[in-house]
Amino acid sequence: MEISVIKIVESTSVDGPGLRTTVYSAGCGHHCKGCHNPQSWDINYGTMVQVEEIANRLLSTDEDITFSGGDPMFQMEAFAELASIIKTKSNKNIWCYTGYKIEQLLKKPKALPLLQNIDVLVDGQFELALKDENLLFRGSSNQRLIDVKKTFEKGEIVIYEPMNLLSPLLIKYKRVNN
Ligand code: SF4
Repeated sequence: MEISVIKIVESTSVDGPGLRTTVYSAGCGHHCKGCHNPQSWDINYGTMVQVEEIANRLLSTDEDITFSGGDPMFQMEAFAELASIIKTKSNKNIWCYTGYKIEQLLKKPKALPLLQNIDVLVDGQFELALKDENLLFRGSSNQRLIDVKKTFEKGEIVIYEPMNLLSPLLIKYKRVNN
């Protein structure tokens, strides 16, 4: 399988905790007002790359991984294959951004193989009226950081604990300021 990739960026700090490697994929049908990257809506904006090739690149670093876009859920089968390879060959955690709400994705049988290999899903469309630049790792306050593994375990939506997110940042902050 192949994924239409816009770019792969190493050592990002804005797409989840720590330094991560982010795969920005092409294709998104949500068309959110105020989207910062409308050119990414077109699946042809990216370059088709074999999943194995992307996996090898991601596995060659020590960094955890984020799938972003565009919306990776527009290529959910290929991303599921990529996530499965990563999880089979490493202990890396995977974050995934999507304009869908998880409740919508849980009704799509084709989305389950990808969801089952994601650790945190940042869900929901970008809402310009709810834009808040102080939010960590999301653009508007309607978007949620969802602990996908616990959500499957408990059978209800479990929000990723902010303190889990903040603690490495706070430790770093304290180190800098002590
Ligand atoms: S889901 Fe993301 S990429 Fe798609 S239109 Fe909304 S903000 Fe843009």
